Amino acid sequence: MTTNKRIVLASRPQGAVQPENFRIEEAPTSRPGEGEVLVRNEWLSLDPYMRGRMSDAKSYVKGVDIGEVMVGQTVGEVVESAHPGFKPGDKVLTSTGWQQYGVARGKELRMIDASRVPASYYLGILGMPGLTAWFGLFELAKPKAGETVVVSAATGAVGSVVGQLAKAKGCRAVGIAGGPEKCDYAVRELGYDACVDYKAGQLHDDLKAACPKGIDVNFENVGGGVLDTVLRQMNLFGRVTVCGLIAEYNATETYGYKALRSILVNRLRVQGMIVFDWAERYGEALADLGARVATRQLKYRESIVEGLDNAPQGLIDLLAGKNFGKQLVRLQP
Ligand code: NDP
Repeated sequence: MTTNKRIVLASRPQGAVQPENFRIEEAPTSRPGEGEVLVRNEWLSLDPYMRGRMSDAKSYVKGVDIGEVMVGQTVGEVVESAHPGFKPGDKVLTSTGWQQYGVARGKELRMIDASRVPASYYLGILGMPGLTAWFGLFELAKPKAGETVVVSAATGAVGSVVGQLAKAKGCRAVGIAGGPEKCDYAVRELGYDACVDYKAGQLHDDLKAACPKGIDVNFENVGGGVLDTVLRQMNLFGRVTVCGLIAEYNATETYGYKALRSILVNRLRVQGMIVFDWAERYGEALADLGARVATRQLKYRESIVEGLDNAPQGLIDLLAGKNFGKQLVRLQP
């Protein structure tokens, strides 16, 4: 019987995630029961939401229990099937978590077509992050041509798609990113009109220069001081999609927002989003994203960690902003 390697939650982090919050285990691989399949995972997605799942604080989904396999989406290959809809060799998207092999029920699997795009794309631009960008921008912020759209974490899995979709819509797209290399990439490769390096220490002034007509739409991925600065420069009847607050995920104290008055005086519409709320319409967004990827209208970059053993460090680095593009773990050599 094949041995399965998996990573479980060993303890809950206080503040920043530490390597000792995880434990690597080996166990015999389970056999699929009726209606189930056994998947050999090839790619694991690392995502900022995983920090929330390591906590037992109340959220929109229950956290991982101590000793349980860390949650996560994977793509892989069916190696054994007891489900009529799947056969060995099929490539699938699943949520079997941080492990080399996982058993899933048929309804928990989605068949993917890895013949035209790499299988890993289904964890990024053609997966949850791409869908988040599409619905958060088009359905919530509803930008109009000519408007200025500001995107934080501008080169990341979600942000890079938002910026490119905003440009395609005819907007002025302005990114906020950490460091000159990411900002250069945002403008040269992703097509942002400008990108502001918040680490340069003058975000307010640099953003003002990049947005001479103010900000109509903010796609917020970061929160904290970045959001506070953007809010101050929003135009009348502006829209803010609150997609993520990564600057706060490892924090032990809540950030004290100072610019909420802008919501009142500018009659802003600030709306939180969770991508799962749009599950019934994923097909519509994926068709559009797929067409844009196929025609190379959308560019995409991955940040790859090698091997399951390095997944904990990969998540620690992602939560410190060290990734440059969609963060993945390659599980098979
Ligand atoms: P990214 O690929 O964008 O990676 C995270 C990036 O956040 C880092 O690379 C870093 O970029 C930036 N960042 C800014 N400030 C900080 C900070 N203080 N600490 C760490 N990183 C920082 O991740 P995703 O695209 O997967 O996710 C982006 C956001 O979208 C997250 O907040 C996530 O939680 C959210 N999200 C929400 C979903 C929803 O349904 N609501 C679904 C998917 C994602 P830089 O160096 O440029 O600062």
